[in-house]
Amino acid sequence: MHTAAAVADFRTYPLISALSGVQNLADRVSIVWADGRISPFHHVWLRDNCPCEQCVYTVTREQVFEIVDAAPDLVPANAHIDSDGCLQIDWQDGHRSRFDPGWLRAHAYDDESRAERLAAKPKAYLWRSDLQLPVFEYSALMNDNGALLQWLIAVRDIGLTQVRGVPTEPGSLKLIAQRISFIRESNFGVLFNVQSKANADSNAYTAFNLPLHTDLPTRELQPGLQFLHCLVNDAEGGESIFVDGFAIADALRQEAPELFQALCEIPVEFRNKDRHSDYRCLAPIIALDALGRVAEVRMANFLRGAFDTSVEQMPLLYRAYRRLIAMTREPRFRLMQRLNPGELWCFDNRRTLHARNAFDPATGARHFQGCYIDRDELLSRILVLQR
Ligand SMILES: [Zn+2]
Repeated sequence: MHTAAAVADFRTYPLISALSGVQNLADRVSIVWADGRISPFHHVWLRDNCPCEQCVYTVTREQVFEIVDAAPDLVPANAHIDSDGCLQIDWQDGHRSRFDPGWLRAHAYDDESRAERLAAKPKAYLWRSDLQLPVFEYSALMNDNGALLQWLIAVRDIGLTQVRGVPTEPGSLKLIAQRISFIRESNFGVLFNVQSKANADSNAYTAFNLPLHTDLPTRELQPGLQFLHCLVNDAEGGESIFVDGFAIADALRQEAPELFQALCEIPVEFRNKDRHSDYRCLAPIIALDALGRVAEVRMANFLRGAFDTSVEQMPLLYRAYRRLIAMTREPRFRLMQRLNPGELWCFDNRRTLHARNAFDPATGARHFQGCYIDRDELLSRILVLQR
């Protein structure tokens, strides 16, 4: 009962409420739970989700059965609660299915259960200039999975964190990034060196001020997490600035809904080219997820192509774009801090825009290393640590 072995999954499902009654109707089974909730399950849904060893390969716990291989009018010959408290269904074609009540409750699709699941989903905590920056210690993150989980949840929900006590030898960033997962390589390398270079292939590798942006908006999938690790910071200037792109999008949605909508709908091209590569991506600046929530901001003015939209829409796009950039400059949203050697930023690159003040290379050396990890890796690591 409520063990991973009983279900087609590696997770376990606690018994929230026992099954107390089963009614077999024309096209569904109606379950009454001990706490009074009623959950209908269509016959086709139950047959599709049969967790038996014929339907699910026990090693991978992935389905081998396909619903089209059952008759479309298949109905149970019998449905009842067995002596273990599971829902047992004997189908008219002779197949038998048993459902763990913990699993069944976790997947029930009555309105109340679905609303509960939606409410339990992680939510972005929107922040402004007064954010209490979440700070973590390198040694704890390297040795303690509990501390690691707390950090990853902060990265997921707040989108900006700092880690202190990181060794300052070049390459140390790799060790902590790999505590999460494998690193996403790009044309700038597995680890990229942020230094002022004579023959720069990006404005990042100059001493210029860099306006608020996301990295690699030129890719179909922008990197999810970005790390910036400070090895040396003796130059004057070069402070890091962050804004919560989700908080700005949220404020824009309330203050100027027509401009918010324009940024969700009108695509903009971002380009990054050098002698050996030419990356381009055409996408709206704000992307919503399947539930209508802001899921991504894509922005780097220095990588943006000329706007290409209809004559009617061009003034609207400029109004929306100007408003967005103006908002990133508003003090209410901006958090500024200088990074010291042995400290690193880890932030959600598809949410948190980052900037750097200009620095003066004549006043001292400045060397940061950075890398990327995709958001999927973060979310998967959190779920595995929570098992
Ligand atoms: Zn089966």
